[in-house]
Amino acid sequence: MDVICPLDVEFSDKISLLLKPPSSEDVQNYFDKIIEERQCIGLKIKQDGEFGKGIYADSEFKEGDLVLKDQMLVGAQHSSNKVDCLVCSYCFRFIGSIELQIGRKLYLQQLGSSVRKECDTETYSHISKKCRLDDSSDEEDDSHRTSHNEGSCSNSQQKETVPLPEEVLESLLKGDVKLPYADQFNLPSSVPCPGGCDEAQYCSKFCADADWELFHSSLCTGKNSVSSSRESILKFIEHANETNDIFILAAKAISSTISRYKKLKEAQTEQQVRFTGQNGIDSSGFSFLLEAWKPMSMGYKRRWWDCVALPDDVDSCDEASFRMEIKELAFQSLDLLKKAIFVKECAPLFSLEIYGQIIGMFELNNLDLVVASPVEDYFLYVDDLPDKEKEEAERITRPFLDALGDDYSASCEGSAFFPLQSCMNHSCCPNAKAFKREEDKDGQATIIALRPISKGEEVTISYIDEDLPFEERQALLADYGFRCKCKKCRGENP
Ligand SMILES: [Zn+2]
Ligand SMILES: [Zn+2]
Ligand SMILES: [Zn+2]
Repeated sequence: MDVICPLDVEFSDKISLLLKPPSSEDVQNYFDKIIEERQCIGLKIKQDGEFGKGIYADSEFKEGDLVLKDQMLVGAQHSSNKVDCLVCSYCFRFIGSIELQIGRKLYLQQLGSSVRKECDTETYSHISKKCRLDDSSDEEDDSHRTSHNEGSCSNSQQKETVPLPEEVLESLLKGDVKLPYADQFNLPSSVPCPGGCDEAQYCSKFCADADWELFHSSLCTGKNSVSSSRESILKFIEHANETNDIFILAAKAISSTISRYKKLKEAQTEQQVRFTGQNGIDSSGFSFLLEAWKPMSMGYKRRWWDCVALPDDVDSCDEASFRMEIKELAFQSLDLLKKAIFVKECAPLFSLEIYGQIIGMFELNNLDLVVASPVEDYFLYVDDLPDKEKEEAERITRPFLDALGDDYSASCEGSAFFPLQSCMNHSCCPNAKAFKREEDKDGQATIIALRPISKGEEVTISYIDEDLPFEERQALLADYGFRCKCKKCRGENP
């Protein structure tokens, strides 16, 4: 039976206005403004390409030049990654100290394995250690992958880890133990959430305030939180952690839209004339909602249950029921979110149609958020020391490395939506790629020129592994909804 959301029916006219593709003038203005804000000198957006909009070079770039540093519109660390890395909840920079990162991870892992021994249940999986693919390309996030690496556990040959006594871990966590040379890797100290929850920590007051204003104030479960529905928020988060953490990203998108809406409304008195009556809509506040929704309106969208790729283990004759299950799952999540953060004036945002389209936008434009771990750099630094110093240092660091095992270098991982990067079209012979440089220590996206790019040329990146054979590439790209006709594809399949 089909799921019917009453808000879809009640607000159908407003929902279709929210989902109406923005005019090309609006698109141009919006992106021109972000290009200016990001100070991306030498880029422009053009809308006449084969795939709608695209990013074009407006000046020359040499190989290795920084083309763009994009700021995320919304992003979240994967729930399963929270055991591995303690990062700023706003910019995803590693925080605390090397000792804290190592101590916390080992502590949570050992806690996890003892809990698992006690109750061998599946529900624990969200905090269990994540199995990872052997990522030799450790500093790269070079694709648009929607990477769900489940199943990779079976073939991973993890080195046996050697657990450490709990007292040792506690003294690391408390900062009583100093590891040699760790002071070379200064991390910003942790700033707590103003709402008093343990979930969110920050690298600075700036990030704490920015996150609070935009996303976190309505989703915080702390004791000083302004939210009255702490229990409901926890239920929503728990459901997302057990099913799909993309729901948390969607909740952040909705809460930021509500924040923008409230801000615009507060400014009403000063700017009364400017917004009322715009688009011929009443002044009941919907015009503010349309304005607040604008950043979300720019991304390419489809309903999640219509666009999600059919998993390999689902037979094509079961496709319809699979898509229905996805829709039901989204409805369950939305129902929990409504109980947690519903705002009457922004009711259309809580319709299943809008929720499905937001998640679909993330599914189609999902970019990996990756920040390399300073713990990895630390152990590499020790490994590179002159023999005598190395031997001395390793006497202390070795037990920690053995306790961490192969997983010592785990990076911060999550998903994020980057407005400009999501406008970059795909090519199997791209002229640019997402690549973190030494100085890129946060979750923002960095695009580097792979070869010289001349003025007027479109800047392209590869959404997939471009070294795969032609048919495999096309199959992967079909999930993004297009058939590639780049130079390489044309050459291989004339
Ligand atoms: Zn930060
Ligand atoms: Zn909080
Ligand atoms: Zn191609």
